[in-house]
Amino acid sequence: MSKALILENMTWQELQKVKDKVELIIIPVGSTEQHGPNTTFSTDTIRAKKIGEMIGDVFGDKVLIAPTLPIGLSYHHMKFPGTITFSLETYLKILRDICWSFKQHGFKKILFLSGHGGNKRPIQEYASEAKKEFDMDIYMSGIGGSLVTDLSNEHGFSKFKGHACEVETSQTMYLAPEHVRYDSLEKAKFKDDTKYLIKKYAHGGSIFWDYREVTENGALGDATKASIEFGKEMNEIVINKITEFIEKIIL
Ligand SMILES: [Zn+2]
Repeated sequence: MSKALILENMTWQELQKVKDKVELIIIPVGSTEQHGPNTTFSTDTIRAKKIGEMIGDVFGDKVLIAPTLPIGLSYHHMKFPGTITFSLETYLKILRDICWSFKQHGFKKILFLSGHGGNKRPIQEYASEAKKEFDMDIYMSGIGGSLVTDLSNEHGFSKFKGHACEVETSQTMYLAPEHVRYDSLEKAKFKDDTKYLIKKYAHGGSIFWDYREVTENGALGDATKASIEFGKEMNEIVINKITEFIEKIIL
């Protein structure tokens, strides 16, 4: 049985009993955005949620897992039907409201576990505000490809990847196979990969980069190379790295 403290599955009395032991709140944050023909709109949200629960299982009552935020900043995917995005302004307000709420209950440290690169910018921006206004410490961690670049290189994966690619699709196969479309996996249909290079090396530029201009099917990399074995292997590294990070935070 999982040891994780998952807020949405608890009563307030149950929380009250363990509240003083909780040293960190984890808020998984995802997106509702297209992932080509490979995986569903929930790909970033469901991965963040599952990783949050796994981390919760490692730390037991030292860490409280908040509900997952299923919408993020996804302007760069809006030309594909179905994607939903907050504006930056809205997202910053939502972060503030969530942090304010936890502050009222006496919590001081929050880690945003982000399944989606576009959420990085608002969280980074908000962190200093939270310190100033609420004296709260805000942390952020990714959950995917950026934590396993060595492993991806060892496997000879595509140079142009990072979304609906072999890495993300493998992780989804391992964590939430019902969100993978095994029969329609496709590699990227690039229109112009020079734009991808600009995005990759231009710091902070991802919000303004339009996927539709770069990839016809909405994917990067090559999801046909995805496997549940890679997903499992990468997930172990991801859990270990986040665990090490949290151990430092709650020292
Ligand atoms: Zn994604």
